[in-house]
Amino acid sequence: MQLFEKLIDYHEAVRLMLESTPRLPVARVSLMEARGLALAEDVRARFDSPPFDNSAVDGYALRSADAQAGRVFRVVDEAPAGRPARKGVGEGEAVKIFTGGVIPDGADAVAMVENTSGWGEEFELKKAAAPGNNLRLAGEDVREGDVILRSGTEIGAPEIALAATQGYGELPVYRRPRVAVLSTGSELVEPGTRALAPGEIFDSNSFALLAQAREAGADAHRTTAASDDAAVLRAAMEEALTCADVVVTSGGVSVGQRDLVKGALLELGVEQIFWGIKLKPGKPVFFGTREDARFFGLPGNPVSAMVCFELFVRPALMRMMGREDHHRPRIKVYFDQDVQNRFGRMHAMRVNLTRTEKGWRAESVGAQGSGLISSLTKADALTLVGPESEGVRAGDPVEALVLREEVLFSRVGDRGW
Ligand code: AMP
Ligand code: MG
Repeated sequence: MQLFEKLIDYHEAVRLMLESTPRLPVARVSLMEARGLALAEDVRARFDSPPFDNSAVDGYALRSADAQAGRVFRVVDEAPAGRPARKGVGEGEAVKIFTGGVIPDGADAVAMVENTSGWGEEFELKKAAAPGNNLRLAGEDVREGDVILRSGTEIGAPEIALAATQGYGELPVYRRPRVAVLSTGSELVEPGTRALAPGEIFDSNSFALLAQAREAGADAHRTTAASDDAAVLRAAMEEALTCADVVVTSGGVSVGQRDLVKGALLELGVEQIFWGIKLKPGKPVFFGTREDARFFGLPGNPVSAMVCFELFVRPALMRMMGREDHHRPRIKVYFDQDVQNRFGRMHAMRVNLTRTEKGWRAESVGAQGSGLISSLTKADALTLVGPESEGVRAGDPVEALVLREEVLFSRVGDRGW
């Protein structure tokens, strides 16, 4: 057992963590695997798109010079999407064409079938057509050589669509971090397997942390080492460290006699960057590195574990994925009443948010105990109430980290859901 040598500031801890967490190497991954990841290089158009002039409608391609209302045209060929016509159009001639069909030689407009007497060998034009009508021109979307997606862009459905139109089957991205989530504690039982014996509880942290890691975009898996046996823990952590980019444990990291995580880590060659933060909840958080692996030892109390994931692990994962700008939204909020903070540590307080005439009003979700998991289901945000001057006064601005981003779309006097 060891006592904390020195507690560091929350902001200092985040800085140290980011400083020693580089981006992951660039990887070329399939379009769908790239979803949610950040582009690592600019992507350029390989050719003009669309690649050829084509029809925006179903109808007849013709010469606009002939296209007066009442004129009768002879249909000489057809051009469905994917199969260009063999013939061009001369005076008084037309080619039956469908959306996406290649505009035949000689034609400079397409008359919609609705503006003709209908499909047939011949048709009468009911409405004059002007040059360029219903044409989609080659290169009107993107031009060969243009940067169509900038490095750093987060890949979503529109980016996937644009890359696919240019024939890209893969994209260069910062790959997803592999995360191993590991619970510690001999009291833990796997949910859904059996009833609890006296003194036991179900393991909730590894599921919660796994969900958070996946939500952040990581490729996360659980490995269970529900044990306070030093050798078992060491073996599980060694395995996690060799196969994951980020290992996240919960529990066993404080100063109790059964808190063996930190000692085991040091034995495994993990270099401690910090252990102990002036933060509530989250005092015993451990962060260390071993070669390319990053290790977060989070507290066992379920609220502490989840809050500390938000405050430390999520930013690390985002950084690794090249998404440095992708923090949770941070906004200024105020309380209606004075809020005490006599802990001498930054308090990450669970609150509800309401939009008012004065801005965002924060209200504690109630008791803030770090075992009260139900309180997290009610929280919209974490307010960061510093220990300075022992809290904040009513109406003073306080920084809040928004967990439920949809709350930001609510209006004054309306929670919206
Ligand atoms: P520890 O830091 O290991 O002393 O754990 C602090 C508290 O969190 C204890 O009440 C543990 O039983 C509880 N705890 C630890 N790990 C988990 C877990 N995976 N799921 C739910 N509760 C846990
Ligand atoms: Mg424990």
